[in-house]
Amino acid sequence: WRKKQTSSKELIDGILTGDIAVLSRAITLIESTNVSHLAQANEVITACLLHANKSVRIGVTGVPGVGKSTFIEAFGKHLTACGKKVAVLAVDPSSTISHGSILGDKTRMEELVKDANAYIRPSASGETLGGVARKTRETIILCEAAGFDTIIIETVGVGQSETAVHSMVDFFLLLKIAGAGDELQGIKRGIMEMADAIVINKADGDNIKKANLAKVAFNRALHLFPAKKSDWTPTTATCSSITGEGIPEVWQTIEKFLELTNENNSFVEKRAEQNNYWLLETINDQLRSHFYNHPEIENLLASTQKAVQKNEISPFAAAQKLLKKYFKD
Ligand code: GDP
Repeated sequence: WRKKQTSSKELIDGILTGDIAVLSRAITLIESTNVSHLAQANEVITACLLHANKSVRIGVTGVPGVGKSTFIEAFGKHLTACGKKVAVLAVDPSSTISHGSILGDKTRMEELVKDANAYIRPSASGETLGGVARKTRETIILCEAAGFDTIIIETVGVGQSETAVHSMVDFFLLLKIAGAGDELQGIKRGIMEMADAIVINKADGDNIKKANLAKVAFNRALHLFPAKKSDWTPTTATCSSITGEGIPEVWQTIEKFLELTNENNSFVEKRAEQNNYWLLETINDQLRSHFYNHPEIENLLASTQKAVQKNEISPFAAAQKLLKKYFKD
């Protein structure tokens, strides 16, 4: 017995009328590893592309425990109260390594889940971060076509996932908490450089003073980075996701960002650049996986690796040999 497959037209029409059940089904199709789903997924995405783009895409990153889900819940509630339709997606690299994901395995955003103007979708899982990122990017398109105007993409502050998320959002928000004056230690320079705003969360109770000090330290550090292409000067702020203090201001900052980047055209320029980046990334990804999954290469690679380790052949010569073999077939 097989469930009747929904036609592409039914999926597209459902998405465009904002039918959440259909949207979820279409996202499941995108996430499917079944190659027979690929053509239909592409058809749906292409149709949705025409209706996408009228949105702002916001990336939220920070180490586990910093308060991402609490922040997104408070921020998301604020946005829906302002009349926005909010979709929350996640890029969780841990879901590619183990089945227990860092972002997904707790009850999260209980209030936002119940909000009719919010849609929350856990991270896709996949073999590679590239695969998960692609699925998320396509999911953004579908959510936008379904009428969501604010897309929040959450990622854990570990590994390479920030770079992937940064390349699919308009605004990148780094969430931090105040430490004992050591805020700048242990923070990856690359991540800070990507940030359009650093928000110090948990600025409540006894923490307020420390949070304000952290804000000053981050502000100083941000000035050391070269200016952004968009001409946007990254901001620092404090907030409490529990009391809601500072949450509306985060949105005001993003509105200022949108005003500037629409005026100087960098908003559309960045999206065009991102499209180009994903075009090339997808090609690279598929070439790489085609190469490594090639049966003969798989066999040969293991023995070649041993030979290279024992210095029987140089890595360069070995690579040439494998590539020659691959391109002959
Ligand atoms: P995540 O791992 O980054 O998603 O962090 P969570 O949102 O799960 O939050 C981790 C812990 O910090 C939870 O116990 C939250 O209740 C707490 N928390 C989050 N935001 C705040 C805040 O603004 N103030 C305080 N005091 N606690 C917070």
